[in-house]
Amino acid sequence: MQATSNETAGGRPAPDQEVIILGTGPAGLAAAVYAARAERHPLVLAGPEPGGQVSLTYTIENYPGFPEGVQGADLYSSFQKQAERFGAVIDFSSATAIDLKATPFRITSDSGEFRTRALIIATGASPRKLGIPGEDLLRGKGVSYCATCDGAFFRNRNVMVVGGGDSALEEGLFLTRFASQVTIVHRRNELRAGRILRDRAEQHPKIRFLLETVVEEIRGSESVKSAVVRNVSSGKTDVLAMDGIFIFIGHDPNTSLFRGHLDMDEKGYLRVDDRMRTSITGVFAAGEAADPVFRQVATSAGMGVAAAISAERWLAGHH
Ligand code: NAP
Repeated sequence: MQATSNETAGGRPAPDQEVIILGTGPAGLAAAVYAARAERHPLVLAGPEPGGQVSLTYTIENYPGFPEGVQGADLYSSFQKQAERFGAVIDFSSATAIDLKATPFRITSDSGEFRTRALIIATGASPRKLGIPGEDLLRGKGVSYCATCDGAFFRNRNVMVVGGGDSALEEGLFLTRFASQVTIVHRRNELRAGRILRDRAEQHPKIRFLLETVVEEIRGSESVKSAVVRNVSSGKTDVLAMDGIFIFIGHDPNTSLFRGHLDMDEKGYLRVDDRMRTSITGVFAAGEAADPVFRQVATSAGMGVAAAISAERWLAGHH
């Protein structure tokens, strides 16, 4: 992908920006469309994973306006083109330091120093990874972190769910709509999930549990073929034929840069009010960095729009 150059590249001091947006997922780019149409000439720092989780999803079938679904990469590219069409500039760098006490705010990225009157944080969240061989290689080719997004591709297939919390069981139950069998693999002999989900999953004829079991490797080249599992109490390993591996071992918001600067909850999600305002005036947040609940492409885009409208109103009132 071609980086869009701007005056700030090369470490030279940048002219003051009116709005800087951190992140190019649906929240960041929806905010960019609105800020650009308001002629605030937003500068968007793409972050380490341009497009965020969307760009890593094969097909998105639940984003309104696409009756046939849309490839994640295409949706990201459309968001980007739409923002650029109205004058947003995307800088393919990541913020590495911030000073929110300064006026204007100061942002340091690996491409230079920036100053901005308003800041919109849309840095997203990342699913926790297992960190095992094959996981990254087969992501989007059978390894998934989103049953809602990818479950329908596994009609009459054999899938594995990793994790023992509410997400793993809820998503595992959702997958039974499509899959012929769902094997839930959990590292302990006791599930973390609450009773209602536990009962429903344990009674479901398509679900089987492998407890005290860890996944050590995911095998396949063009698509997932099998998983190597090990029973932690007996030490016995096994290779299980699988078409899909869904990993639900928690999410972490990408907010470590803001720790000590902005209010966040105990899990690191930025606290925002109903206008997407954070604890510092002029700083707004949107999308999964500030949303532990919904975490959908459409809700993130909506939060991005709301943050841009709030930022615009704030800028208009603070000349
Ligand atoms: P979670 O409750 O933190 O559970 C994560 C699960 O993944 C745990 O079972 C954990 O094992 C396992 N795990 C973590 N790291 C692992 C690793 N490296 N290898 C293997 N397994 C690993 O996360 P969550 O299920 O996403 O839920 C997050 C929050 O949302 C919770 O408060 C949950 O109650 C809530 N939630 C609620 C609902 C609902 O009520 N319908 C639905 C979804 C989520 P251990 O148990 O051994 O730690």
